Amino acid sequence: MSWTVQDSAELYGIPYWGKGLFRVDQQGHLLATPQGEGGGDINLHELVDELQERGIDLPVLVRMSQVAERRVGLMWQCFDAAIEEYGFTGRYRGVYPIKVNQQRQLVEDILRVGRKHHVGLEAGSKPELLVAMALLDDPEGLLICNGYKDRRYIETALRARQLGRQTVIVIEKLAEVDAILEVAHKTGIRPVLGVRAKLSNPGKGKWQLSAGDRAKFGLTALGIVQLVELLRDAGYLDCLQLLHFHIGSQVVSIQTFKRALREASRLYTELVALGAPMGLMDVGGGVGVDYDGSQTAFEASRNYSEAEYAADVVAQIAEACNRAGVKHPDIVTENGRSTVAYGSVLLFDILGMESMPSDGPPEPEQEDDTDLLKELREVYDNINPRTYQEAWHDAVDVRTRAKSGFQLGVLSLTQLARIDRLYWQSCGRIRHVMKKQSYVPDDLDGLEPSLADTYYANFSVFQSAPDAWAIDQLFPCVPVHRLEEEPRRRGIIADLTCDSDGKISRFVDRRDVKQVLELHDLRDGERYVLALALVGAYQEILGDMHNLFGDTHAVHVTVDEDGELRFDLVVEGDTVEEVTGYVQYTRKDLVHRMRRATEKAIRKGQIERKDAASILAFYRDGLDGYTYLGN
Ligand SMILES: *Cc1c(COP(=O)(O)O)cnc(C)c1O
Repeated sequence: MSWTVQDSAELYGIPYWGKGLFRVDQQGHLLATPQGEGGGDINLHELVDELQERGIDLPVLVRMSQVAERRVGLMWQCFDAAIEEYGFTGRYRGVYPIKVNQQRQLVEDILRVGRKHHVGLEAGSKPELLVAMALLDDPEGLLICNGYKDRRYIETALRARQLGRQTVIVIEKLAEVDAILEVAHKTGIRPVLGVRAKLSNPGKGKWQLSAGDRAKFGLTALGIVQLVELLRDAGYLDCLQLLHFHIGSQVVSIQTFKRALREASRLYTELVALGAPMGLMDVGGGVGVDYDGSQTAFEASRNYSEAEYAADVVAQIAEACNRAGVKHPDIVTENGRSTVAYGSVLLFDILGMESMPSDGPPEPEQEDDTDLLKELREVYDNINPRTYQEAWHDAVDVRTRAKSGFQLGVLSLTQLARIDRLYWQSCGRIRHVMKKQSYVPDDLDGLEPSLADTYYANFSVFQSAPDAWAIDQLFPCVPVHRLEEEPRRRGIIADLTCDSDGKISRFVDRRDVKQVLELHDLRDGERYVLALALVGAYQEILGDMHNLFGDTHAVHVTVDEDGELRFDLVVEGDTVEEVTGYVQYTRKDLVHRMRRATEKAIRKGQIERKDAASILAFYRDGLDGYTYLGN
């Protein structure tokens, strides 16, 4: 049977992690469908050509505002349905935590598309608050102020209330109370206060460290009671209106939410019993993204849908309030990752590929073959379905002995090289036999990755997918074209940085994690472009300046009513001058130094005057240029 585009879709898991936002067309191109199934397409392969025509080189981050729109809409849809189902009398009031991606156009997009729902913002620091209060121009949108606060932060939040911004100051530590009361006194502005609870049930997983006695944020039961007393004594208990918790990001199991909600809902009704007016229940963020499409409680996935999450939140709060005879609160969520992860995809090209010398037949026997080479040839000749495991052990053993032989001066470099080549050819043959077996012992797990090709990619992991490096996070990676063709190679992706950690060597798979990615042979004079998907959350702002690569270009695209691709905005990436400026080099000084060097070279007769001019022009051009590799 010949290879089809459906085979590629299945191989890369596109329908599973793509959630209707990505698909493959009959030409084998990867399409984004930002408005979901039935909506117009963005052909990511053609997009690269169109960008090229506009002088925008890869790598480029593609932001799709219509995806954000869909994701924002989805939460409201799910909560509205749950509110209806449970006869809940409170409203749903989502806020976007801007730390997840503070990029202005993206925040503006969310506010624009969420306007009809009165979407709010969450800030976790002074700079974020200053941004949020300027952007959130909606008297019904909440502005939740989290994080550690000094007097200036508090005063800023209070002053924002004078302008009609619905700021809620969430108390993270008792020590903040004095400052809040002092500033409220001084300014004469009554604050709206919240309290962050430190829940006793820590969740499980990479990101779930935000609960339990040692968690960094929030008040325990004891702290909450003390807070109520403090506020009552100061005459501010009527200001306490919100209970908040946040159990961490990428919550993989719905059980974790259920436990947290049970505890928090009890805290809520108890706060009402203690005399606080309340009215807002803020269940934080943490809704996960199904990066590998497996719908499991694996760290790269989650075992629930938005609808199930919304139903559980509403049901748990309703039940606790009904039991305690407390009025249903408005429900606030602060989901960042699940709102923005889907909207961005990074496109980058492959610059070259290197493979292990495992192909081809072994070289013929020669007079001066070493004993080790002869031994290895025998191993090679005897690789079959019964012996392949043993052959693998023997080949590894011969190679180890050859390396010591070289170090001891018994083998020459050429002799070692011949053994090395036959070793790789043996590995290639073992892999060939292994692939036909229905069961392969774990023992041979290391073989496939050791034979993997290295695809050199024009991007920086540290800039564009830092979590892939820092916490081994998985992101779906797929070629944007040639999907009608069977990918016959198995590779890993190495980035541009001079850092051995700058690579992607774990790939999404619904059953497991892949150690190698299926990729195509490179063709002369033809680009090979890959997409790294679901990178809209956290990656942009956590990205760093390793090797001074800096920001990639970013384009904002939408599909218009006629199904045509529209470029709404092109944000050019960093130039060399900009990234060097971050570490205090100025253009003036660098050019000055280069001019001195040219003058010296002229004096020494190494170059002519006109050479100096062209060297300097070339240097200046370099400062103006893109940091990534061009043609
Ligand atoms: C980071 C953070 C969020 C967002 O979490 P996601 O996992 O991205 O949804 C929400 N609330 C608070 C307090 C946070 O610190």
